[in-house]
Amino acid sequence: MSGSSLAVPPAITRLSWQQEMARAVRDPAELVRLLELPSSLLEPARRACRQFPLRVPHSYVARMERGNPKDPLLRQVLPLTVELTPAPDFVADPVGDLSASKGAGVLHKYHGRVLLITTGACAINCRYCFRRHFPYDQANASTERWRPALRYIAQHPEVEEVILSGGDPLTLTDRRLAQLVTQLADIPHIRRLRIHTRLPVVLPARITDELIKWLAGSRLQPVMVVHANHANELDAAVASAVKRLRDAGVTVLNQTVLLRGVNDEARALTMLHQRLFDNGILPYYLHVLDRVAGARHFAITQNRARELHRQMAAWLPGYLVPRLVQEIEGAPGKRWLPP
Ligand SMILES: *Cc1c(COP(=O)(O)O)cnc(C)c1O
Ligand code: SF4
Repeated sequence: MSGSSLAVPPAITRLSWQQEMARAVRDPAELVRLLELPSSLLEPARRACRQFPLRVPHSYVARMERGNPKDPLLRQVLPLTVELTPAPDFVADPVGDLSASKGAGVLHKYHGRVLLITTGACAINCRYCFRRHFPYDQANASTERWRPALRYIAQHPEVEEVILSGGDPLTLTDRRLAQLVTQLADIPHIRRLRIHTRLPVVLPARITDELIKWLAGSRLQPVMVVHANHANELDAAVASAVKRLRDAGVTVLNQTVLLRGVNDEARALTMLHQRLFDNGILPYYLHVLDRVAGARHFAITQNRARELHRQMAAWLPGYLVPRLVQEIEGAPGKRWLPP
């Protein structure tokens, strides 16, 4: 060995999660180049991007297979012109979130729990997301706007659980989150803090010591609901992020969205749920896709969803079978679809 070869080039030294977010891939040309994809994908991606931008962290791109336009992780983020084709039953607000809004970013649809829209930001833009049309400017409970949200919660003693959602609440800084959680813990009737986030999966570097400190240090019982759709998303970095959460006493659950071309096969779903449990994550929900404009190409029929669910239930132990659910506007909870 000559002494001239140096170990790690500067480009791959460890970045902070904020740096990773800031350096996310936003240009379709960069994605096509990194993954050695056919250049014919480029122009359609650019057009679809204008409605909802491309955004994907490098560490997530690294889990995709090169040269494979059908990679199940790529499919979730690659903009396609089919998104621009109008479909009458696919609408901007398919679950009635706007009508459930109590202002100040508070959604109070279900008994005992309120959902707080903390931010519109995400580390990744998933093409099937209902968020692609959500008017966050009006609904976002940003720093000053948290005051009315906190007041609403304080005035509703039946609320036991606060769900931080978004966007992705973990895109906020630990300082702001610690502050919010302290204020929530001051409301005596709140018992549980739930965080709905995709960051432990798409950007596991987000699980910092500081995060563990405010989350485990609160009197509120912590629950984190992550969002993984395919076994390939769960690599060693995700496993270690989840282990740190569990070691700190956080209950970690998962929700998955059924997506055509991503996970609409019983074998893929079974592997995903086995891999989740290998990582200490329990399944929670399996969602039938919300009928959001631009996502029709991801939809599968309800019968197919039930059939996949039945097959999983036959192959997996009961505790690894998520509940198949669908959100219905105005219903008192997510609707469970029986097998
Ligand atoms: C999904 C959801 C919840 C949480 O429902 P759970 O069944 O407790 O998981 C609460 N509020 C809103 C607005 C939701 O969409
Ligand atoms: S809210 Fe969740 S599903 Fe939607 S873009 Fe953000 S991470 Fe993806």
